[in-house]
Amino acid sequence: MSKASEEFRYAKLTWPEIEDAVDAGKVCIVPTGAVEQHGPHLPLDVDIICPTEVAFGAGRARPDQLLVLPTVSYGYTGHVMDFPGTINTHFEHFIHQVLDITKSLAYHGFKKIILLNGHGSNWPNLDLVARRTNLETDAECLPIQWTNLLTIDKEFLPSWRESAFPGGCAHACELETSVYMYLDPDNVRMDKIANGTISYNEENNPFNWVDCFATGPATVLSWTASYSETGVLGEPELATVEKGKRAYDESVHQLLTFVDYFKDRPKDVRRDRHRTPPTMPMPWGQASVPTV
Ligand SMILES: [Zn+2]
Repeated sequence: MSKASEEFRYAKLTWPEIEDAVDAGKVCIVPTGAVEQHGPHLPLDVDIICPTEVAFGAGRARPDQLLVLPTVSYGYTGHVMDFPGTINTHFEHFIHQVLDITKSLAYHGFKKIILLNGHGSNWPNLDLVARRTNLETDAECLPIQWTNLLTIDKEFLPSWRESAFPGGCAHACELETSVYMYLDPDNVRMDKIANGTISYNEENNPFNWVDCFATGPATVLSWTASYSETGVLGEPELATVEKGKRAYDESVHQLLTFVDYFKDRPKDVRRDRHRTPPTMPMPWGQASVPTV
């Protein structure tokens, strides 16, 4: 039996075992995060630890179906550079790096790829990476914000959340603090936990507001330091280890539920609708419709 059926950590396999993993149709999970300020009470690696541990939790449960890649630890954080310690990756570099990873996987034969994101501002870039992967390779790729896994069971958040909506869960908040307290309690500065406001949320304008789980329909996203004093957006004073465990377990569970749907689902078939077939290759690096 190949090690590929019992090891979920991509980088722990050898190249012949990778071939076995391809044959098994394993789904690849690429965690993506950032080195970014999370207020005075949480370390800079929150957005790395959360998606990596959720991916590992899923991988441990299904080592025969999943491979978790080394985390993309540096993300797009240009708007957070007023807080010391934050490391920015230019958004074009970030897009190219993650796209290089998905294209490498597709080339080797992995056709199902999940980008499991921990840093909200990576999102528009990852959305583009996934779309480009789908158009420029024969693999299927999609981004998931790990926190959104908590919205699948409609009963979960109402039974979990105590902080105000919108704003109580946004950044270094009730949610991130709870999960970090569960995953790495020794590194939470418990004596420094304090709620933090988002100044434009305080205006109670129906257009312009933010939260982990939704954003207003016309929200201005700009320098974090222009609307936050401490870098804490939300109510970490409501965080507990128990809530962290519940949120972590639910995220892993829902990620596995998605894998059940995604793993062996046949790819939707693309068709060329031109009456007269195009006379040149598709530009922009996109593949032409395969002829069968
Ligand atoms: Zn975060």
